[in-house]
Amino acid sequence: MDIVRSVGEALLNTLGSLAPFAPLLFLCIVAEKFWAKYPVSNRTIVINLVYVVCAMALAHGLVLPWLFKLNAFVPQDVWNLQIHAALTWRDVLLWMGYLVLYDFLYYWFHRLQHVVPWLWRYHFVHHSEENISAAAFARHHWLEEVWRYTFMTVPLLVIAGNPQVPFAVISVIVTFAILMHWNTPLGFGPLERIFITPRYHRIHHSIEERHINKNFGAFLQLWDWLFGTRYVPQRDEFPATGVRGYSDRHFLQHILPVPILKKD
Ligand SMILES: [Zn+2]
Ligand SMILES: [Zn+2]
Repeated sequence: MDIVRSVGEALLNTLGSLAPFAPLLFLCIVAEKFWAKYPVSNRTIVINLVYVVCAMALAHGLVLPWLFKLNAFVPQDVWNLQIHAALTWRDVLLWMGYLVLYDFLYYWFHRLQHVVPWLWRYHFVHHSEENISAAAFARHHWLEEVWRYTFMTVPLLVIAGNPQVPFAVISVIVTFAILMHWNTPLGFGPLERIFITPRYHRIHHSIEERHINKNFGAFLQLWDWLFGTRYVPQRDEFPATGVRGYSDRHFLQHILPVPILKKD
């Protein structure tokens, strides 16, 4: 019965953590029904959302409680920067700094995911979607939380201290994750040159040779630009997505602790 209760709690925690993002996700999914360049089927949307909830429930139930316990062993706020409850300009700048720092850490973590075979095995779950859309915004393997904690949360705790900081920063990143996977050729004007937009991130999911290992960023294009992986799409450049040589039909096997990576 304990297992049933903890699974139920993990599911409730998952739905609770997704709830603030539901309106934006819903709007993007509805908009895709009218304006997606490649129509997204209801089946794809449902499968992706079910997978996201299952994977997050497993992460909430089996992974995150153990990771949160590790927080006690991490030296925190080593430079005594401290964020205050009353937001001053200093605090706002600090929050923005943490966001940029997280983005920098994510950029390198994401690059590693594409070159280290065991990291790629897990990241493949995200890339195997054949028609990337908003519903796949959090289609990540549940054990990815372990690598994310190690590569991004721990450094942020060491510098920022307050465990609220990773949460707040991740909320901004999740909002961007929904928007960047939005299946729309819509342009965002001058923002297209600064932030990660749907057309920009679609290049990262492209199956075309010239797009491979481009556009790793999650928030700003800055890191791609600095480290030579930036590819700004042409106005009408909206490639097919997925992983060449692999199909998505092994989807349920992605839920295994070690996902199966099987060629066509
Ligand atoms: Zn990737
Ligand atoms: Zn993506």
